[in-house]
Amino acid sequence: MTGLLLAVALVLPAGLIEDLYSHRLLFDDSGRPVIPVGMMQGRDRVVVEGERGLIVTVGEGAPVDVPPGTSLVVERSSGRPAKLRALWIIETLEGAARATRRNVAARWQSRGLHVDLLDVGGVYGVKGTVVDNRATLMVIPRVGDRLDEATAQVLAGHGARESPLEWLDALPSVELRAAGQRGPTVRIAGNGGSHVLVRDVEHSVGYPEHGFVDRPLRGEVVVAPDKDGKLAVVNLVDEDALVAGVLPSEMFATAPLEALKAQAVTARGELFAKIGRRHFADPHQVCSEQHCQVYKGVSAEHPRARQAADETRGELAFVGERLLESVYSACCGGHTEAADVVWDRPSQSALTGRADVPYADPMSRPSLALGIERSALAVLGKHDRQAPVIPLDVRSDAAVEALLVAPRQATWCGRSSFNQKGDAYRWTRRFMRTELDAAFADLGVGTVTRIAVDERGPGGRLRALRVEGSKATARVLRELPVRRRLGNLRSGLFVVDEERDGAGGLVAVTLRGAGFGHGAGMCQQGAIGMAEAGADYRTILRHYYVGAAVKQVF
Ligand SMILES: [Zn+2]
Ligand SMILES: [Zn+2]
Repeated sequence: MTGLLLAVALVLPAGLIEDLYSHRLLFDDSGRPVIPVGMMQGRDRVVVEGERGLIVTVGEGAPVDVPPGTSLVVERSSGRPAKLRALWIIETLEGAARATRRNVAARWQSRGLHVDLLDVGGVYGVKGTVVDNRATLMVIPRVGDRLDEATAQVLAGHGARESPLEWLDALPSVELRAAGQRGPTVRIAGNGGSHVLVRDVEHSVGYPEHGFVDRPLRGEVVVAPDKDGKLAVVNLVDEDALVAGVLPSEMFATAPLEALKAQAVTARGELFAKIGRRHFADPHQVCSEQHCQVYKGVSAEHPRARQAADETRGELAFVGERLLESVYSACCGGHTEAADVVWDRPSQSALTGRADVPYADPMSRPSLALGIERSALAVLGKHDRQAPVIPLDVRSDAAVEALLVAPRQATWCGRSSFNQKGDAYRWTRRFMRTELDAAFADLGVGTVTRIAVDERGPGGRLRALRVEGSKATARVLRELPVRRRLGNLRSGLFVVDEERDGAGGLVAVTLRGAGFGHGAGMCQQGAIGMAEAGADYRTILRHYYVGAAVKQVF
C-alpha cells in the first residue's frame, strides 16, 4: 500500500461522507494536506480500471482486489438528496472585520433585513505559520432567482450586492453496488500506488469543448453521494500533485525553474484561498473545471512542474498575517496595474501597480515610495544613466507613450526569451468606424465619432472608455468589458490614434497597446525574465507582490 492510501485510511469510512462535505482541510499521516477534487457528479454509473489492478473498499467492508484488465462498475441503486437551503450572501466579513459581525448584523436588522451569520473557511498550518481564510457570511433566505423589490432597494441603498449560495443542512446518501457489495461509498486505489483510470469523465460542462474523456488519476478515488443523491467522483489528491498538475496550464513547463517555483507558490496560494470557501454543497473542496482550476490528473503532469512544486513544498506567500491574494497575468507590458483598477475591490498594498524593471534594492521597500524608487531605479545596460526610461506611474497618455517607446531591454517582461515573438508585449489593433459602431451599438450612442480613455490606473490600464457618438456619449467601465467588446483586445493599456476624413469624420482608430492580460500582480513573462537574469523565486515574488513574504506552512 502507498503512503497516501495508508494515510487516507485514517479517515474512517463512517465519517467519509461527513469529511468530504465538512470542508475541513484533510491531512495524511505525514501531515501533508490531501485535497478532495471533484471530477464529476450526477452519475448513475461509474466505470473504473487499474493497469495493475485496484483495491476497492465498499462502505466499511473489507478491501477487495479487482485484477488488471477488469472494469469495476459502480452503480447507484437508490439515493436521497441533501437538504439544502437557498440563500443570498449580502455581505462577507474577512479577517479582522469578522470581529464586528454582531454590529454588522444589527445594522442590517435596523435596515429591516434579518440576516443569519455563517462562518466558513478555517485556520490551518503545522509549522507555526497559519493560513487563516475564515470569513463570516451575512445571509438572507433566497426564494427564486431574484431578490424581491424591497430587499433589492435596501441592498442598493447601501452599496451591497447579493450572490447566491446553496447551504447544506443535511447530508445526502446513496446506496450503491460495486464489486458484489452494497454500501454508501466506494474507495478505489491503484494496486501498488498505480494510477486509477476513470472512464468517461464529463468535463467542460457549459463550454464548447464539453465532452467525456478517460482520466488517469493519482491517489485515491472516492465515489460518494452528490447533493442530488446521485454519484459523485472525487479524487483525493495530495497537495503537491495538485499544484504540479495545474502548473503546466498556467506557465510554460519549459520556463526557468525559479519562475516555475514562483508560479507554484502562487498556485498553492490560490488553492488554499479556496479551501473551505466554496462548493459548500458538494463533496469536494475544489472542482477540476475552470471555476476552481483545471485539473486533468496524471495526463497534465510534467517533471519540471513536479520539481517546482516539490522545491516549494508547503510554502505560501503572506502579507503580514494574511494569505497573499496571488493574482497574475501573462505579460504586464512593462508596468503592472493596481488590482482595484482591474476589479471592483478595495486597494491592497501588495497589489499596487509598479514598473516591471530591475530595482537597485527590491527587498527593502515595504511599500511604494515613489521618491525612493526613482533614485533606486537602476535599469541594467546603457539605458541606466539616463532618466528613468519606464515611467513609475503611467496614469497619463504621455506616460503610456513613453512606456510604449521605451527600449524592450528596460523591462523584465521585455527581456524574457519566451517573449521575443508574438504580440504579448506590444500590439496594435485597427478598427474601422463601422466595427466600432457594432461594438458599442447596444449603448445607443449611434454612429461612433470618438473613443478615448477617460481615466487610467497607476499602471496605465483604462478605468473607463468614453464612447462619443452621433446620439449620445457612454462610458464603459473597467478593462475587461472593453477588451471583450473590442474583439478580445490583448489588454486595457493602450493609446488611441484616430484617422479622419477631409470632413473630420471618424474613419478608423488604431490602438497601440502593451501587455497581455489584466496586468495585476505577477507578470509571468517578467518572472521568466527575472529568473533568466538569476533571480530566485522569493525575489520574483517580492518584486511583484510588494511586502509579501514566503513562509512554510506545511
Ligand atoms: Zn469549482
Ligand atoms: Zn511585465
